[in-house]
Amino acid sequence: MSGAADQGSPASHPTPNPDAPPLRLLVLGGTTEASALVAGLARKPEVAVTLSLAGRTAAPRPEPVSTRIGGFGGAEGLARWLSENGIEAVIDATHPFAARISANAAAACRAVAVPLLAVRRPAWEREPGDDWIAAANVPDCLDALGTAPRTVFLTIGRQELAAFARAPQHAYVVRTIEPVGDALPVPNLVTVSARGPFTLADEIRFMREARIEVLVTKNSGGAATYPKIEAARRLGLPVVIVARPALPDVPAVADAAGALPWLRARRTERGTV
Ligand code: NAP
Repeated sequence: MSGAADQGSPASHPTPNPDAPPLRLLVLGGTTEASALVAGLARKPEVAVTLSLAGRTAAPRPEPVSTRIGGFGGAEGLARWLSENGIEAVIDATHPFAARISANAAAACRAVAVPLLAVRRPAWEREPGDDWIAAANVPDCLDALGTAPRTVFLTIGRQELAAFARAPQHAYVVRTIEPVGDALPVPNLVTVSARGPFTLADEIRFMREARIEVLVTKNSGGAATYPKIEAARRLGLPVVIVARPALPDVPAVADAAGALPWLRARRTERGTV
């Protein structure tokens, strides 16, 4: 995690004014953390939340707050949107591999002087029994897989699947939320369209039945998708694990609950407005 969030201290901040208008907050989402955050904030009249989704999922889960969908048009477009909508605080709760929107959020918030907090779940750490092969990025996974044909379980989402077309000797089992379509043109492909979370028992059964020999995943972190890592460990399977991209150095907390003191500090900062 980069930077520590200003948790706000009772000594340095006055109590929020209960009569002040709600704090206008933008949450950049698409993750379980963002959903947890807006679910909690939906019950708080002192915060007016807009959730933003990229629009990658055709039928996103319904959320209990005002939701906008689609890109802003880069950092400049986001800065404009923040100003036009009178946004007073932004929480970047996007996925740790969504590096572009995080960079845009940092640049836009800097440009219009709106405070920004990132919610960044800690990366998974190697446990005893894990057979991990590190990859710097998705294309690097090909070297880790080697040349001999293997049955590969790909759980890296849809957008970067094409890289594996350069290794058509492998049999691929691809699990995504949205259908894969023609994103991975290889002769031996099984696609599974499913939305987690999956239990450890589910993952062990699935990997056994599909005769998986190696798992490929991003180091997303968090509990929701961890059972596949644990299943691979139990089954003695190697895991090719993609390292996280560089993210902007902004105040950050590990989960949705960690964002609440920061929000309170933003409200008290407005003083008696
Ligand atoms: P990205 O590469 O960082 O962003 C690409 C572009 O998508 C951004 O420049 C922005 O377009 C738009 N965008 C991304 N997130 C947005 C949001 N929450 N609201 C509005 N626009 C957004 O992102 P990505 O890796 O494609 O991920 C897209 C979304 O899926 C993210 O919200 C992320 O939380 C979620 N997600 C990603 C992954 C992953 O592995 N990458 C996994 C699970 C969930 P403009 O420049 O036009 O504003």
